[in-house]
Amino acid sequence: MIRERRGDERTRSGTAENHRPLWARFLNHLTNPDPLILLYHELQPPASASRSDPTGDGIPFSAFERQLTLVSRCRKIVSVDEIASRLQHGESGRDLAAVTFDDGLDSVRSVALPLLERLSIPATVFLTTCVFDSELMWRDQIRVLGEQDLVERFLAFASPLVTEFRAMTPTAFVRQSKNPEVVGSKTVLQLLERFWRHEQLDPATLSTRRYMELSFLKTLRSDVLQVGNHGHRHLMLSTLSDSEQADEIERAEEYLNELHLGRSQLFSFPFGGPDSYNRDSLGLLLSRGYRGFLLSRAFRPAISGDAERKFVGLGRTIPLRSVSGLALQWAKQRGKRAGTIQNH
Ligand SMILES: [Zn+2]
Repeated sequence: MIRERRGDERTRSGTAENHRPLWARFLNHLTNPDPLILLYHELQPPASASRSDPTGDGIPFSAFERQLTLVSRCRKIVSVDEIASRLQHGESGRDLAAVTFDDGLDSVRSVALPLLERLSIPATVFLTTCVFDSELMWRDQIRVLGEQDLVERFLAFASPLVTEFRAMTPTAFVRQSKNPEVVGSKTVLQLLERFWRHEQLDPATLSTRRYMELSFLKTLRSDVLQVGNHGHRHLMLSTLSDSEQADEIERAEEYLNELHLGRSQLFSFPFGGPDSYNRDSLGLLLSRGYRGFLLSRAFRPAISGDAERKFVGLGRTIPLRSVSGLALQWAKQRGKRAGTIQNH
């Protein structure tokens, strides 16, 4: 029932796309016939952006604001669910854009939300809900290892226990640890938990990453922000059994059910590459009433299923901070021609 898209996705996100200049890739998304779905994670507050800290984590506020302004000049910004709905009804998404955030970092609350409200731009934040259990998400645990200079120590600890860790190197560890062809994310998480116990360290006290709190989200009423499911522990679903995948989806749903915000019917796969899900993942989502899924890379929308029960897969674009200056320049040059861009 679900059409395989892997070959197409690799073509779209493969070497040809990656070797094009960033600004060309960005402009292509504004002029190409597919819906433009932006994916953000961390944003820097306006104060740090004014210091233009090149080492800061996330997109500077000024770049975020410029990107939204640019996109809203060229396309109508709607919710990502509306894009899915229109495609499912056979309509074009060429004049549409959407704003999404993954993970639920606190800068969505403190930096993005005031601007989204001021500009009346709808957005969807896909939450990693283990943080509501006071658990440090496993990618943040990896981050702490690096910040505390503990990577070599962790690999020495893990290598005798799981053979796959023997092939990892400290410099490539961050990348290798999320490659499902090297080791599954659940295995990495289990080893991390054993390591912290062995070292008698609490990684949560060492992490600087902040997420939106459940108490805030429970009281939030918003006309612009809706929430969605990004899995409970941010594990790569393709490396899990069917029941483990169901558990990741259901545990996140339980938290989303506690909120009074609009709810996306799309699922955002953690990591969002073509290898981040499998047929079990899609079957589970279908059976639980989702209308589709989101990836973290650009690929052409895929729709499968019969007329009554269509299922849609959508690619997304991660805007980079270095694009902002060119994007603003382009907006000045091309802004008046926005009407013609939609008719390409
Ligand atoms: Zn994520």
